[in-house]
Amino acid sequence: MGSVYLLSPRSARAMNRGRVPGAHVPDKLFDQVIKEWSQPRSGLKIAIDRAAKLGVILKGLGYKGIHIGGIHRSFTTVGAILDRMEEIEDSWEDFLGEFNMGNSRTYYYLSNDPVPEEKLPLPGRIKENFTEHYPHALLKTAHNLFFDKTARLAKVYRKLAGFLEKTNKAWLLKRMLEDPLKKPLLSCQGCGDCAIQHTAFLCPESGCPKYTRNGACGGSYHGFCEVHPERKCVWVRAHKRLKHCGMAHTLGKAFVPPRMWELNQTSSWVNFHLGKDHQKP
Ligand code: SF4
Repeated sequence: MGSVYLLSPRSARAMNRGRVPGAHVPDKLFDQVIKEWSQPRSGLKIAIDRAAKLGVILKGLGYKGIHIGGIHRSFTTVGAILDRMEEIEDSWEDFLGEFNMGNSRTYYYLSNDPVPEEKLPLPGRIKENFTEHYPHALLKTAHNLFFDKTARLAKVYRKLAGFLEKTNKAWLLKRMLEDPLKKPLLSCQGCGDCAIQHTAFLCPESGCPKYTRNGACGGSYHGFCEVHPERKCVWVRAHKRLKHCGMAHTLGKAFVPPRMWELNQTSSWVNFHLGKDHQKP
């Protein structure tokens, strides 16, 4: 997965102050951004265009997805970037020169070596122990018992979920049972659209700062996260878990639809049984 950032003076400053690990805006580009934003409206327009150009370049280079950063409030801006990408997608090679800042060791946004060498974990330092693996078997058994729509009791769960939904009591199930179990076990964030079964029963919401549901972003270093270098990449952990039980080949086999944000902070159990989550037919 590649990264694209909506560059504004604020986000450029944040990057250069080290708030976005691994990101740095070259001086020439920084000055250009400050100039462009002297008129905020046209500054935003140019920033959207620049983000879209970088997005299509990454797509053209073969990236399977992009993470769009620097936008926290407005989905309209995300939409504008995506629309612009669609318009210019075919001519992505024409924009390559715009991202050359004149220094062969300078990258548009990610530096060549984001984290100082001494801070990086050494290869082979990922420890595997019993506690890393045992929740997998436990949660898989629970999942097969309660979250298999072909299971014998599936009809009963569906009826119960329907009743809770109808009587506006689904929150009670979430507070009394779902949260107390899933928070300590999975650091569940209550997204309401559970995807742990795709990540070897690790939570992609709490485990990955990019919330990836379709495999690793490609930025991890020796198995550690590029955003939080002290943390193991959740996908590396998932792979190790599955390898441990001879199921590594199953990882990433199926495409996982995007998370349904409208279900945030609702009961993922009820949502699953009522067919409201990403697994709905
Ligand atoms: S994927 Fe969502 S529901 Fe499942 S454990 Fe993570 S935050 Fe909780």
